[in-house]
Amino acid sequence: MLVLDLGSGAVRGMLRAGLDPFATDRIFFTHFHPDHTSDVVPLLFSINYGATEPRTRPLAIYGPEPFEDFWSKIIAVWGEWMLGDYETEISQLPHECAFPVEFPGCRIRWAPAQHRPESIAYRLETEGGSLVYTGDTEYSESVVNLARGAHTLLSECSFPDDAPVPGHLTPGGVARIASEAGVERVVVTHIYPTADRLDLVSEIGRGYSGEVVVAKDGLKFTV
Ligand SMILES: [Zn+2]
Ligand SMILES: [Zn+2]
Repeated sequence: MLVLDLGSGAVRGMLRAGLDPFATDRIFFTHFHPDHTSDVVPLLFSINYGATEPRTRPLAIYGPEPFEDFWSKIIAVWGEWMLGDYETEISQLPHECAFPVEFPGCRIRWAPAQHRPESIAYRLETEGGSLVYTGDTEYSESVVNLARGAHTLLSECSFPDDAPVPGHLTPGGVARIASEAGVERVVVTHIYPTADRLDLVSEIGRGYSGEVVVAKDGLKFTV
């Protein structure tokens, strides 16, 4: 199982959605903010102490430069309880993707996002279709280019258009990226309370003619 970001509550969310957190084989982080990374601590802790069988297969963890520095700080605090006898493979990704990460059935590319200096967005391609996950970003040509022609854009949508916050998207920004990239569907997530009060489907629909879905915990979709 592949996981994109691990904010607080992600492990519980997997369990509620019927997914086995111990089945995680690869984790891809978009940036280092705690709402995208903090549950890696309880996930690895629970793999060590909650699994009925000791884990033997490796766990691959990817994050944008300077991920190795960020990871070493987490390990300095929690590593005693996070690291087990299995191999933890840490990969620090350059901001621009020169070579995709490939494994059976999936190819992953990425591009800079406009949020934190390290921020990147990911594009997953399989034979069936492609998914682009923005992580946190404001409007970004780099994200538009990454998302061009993708089937589904999983996008943050943090704030309303009349109260934007730098480094984040509003419904208008989501619509702009989705329509310029020509994606078939947008799924919005990472919705702050001021945006959660809006009718996001119609707000995004003003500037984008494809399908709009507002994510909720446990949502399942196919690309
Ligand atoms: Zn963030
Ligand atoms: Zn965030």
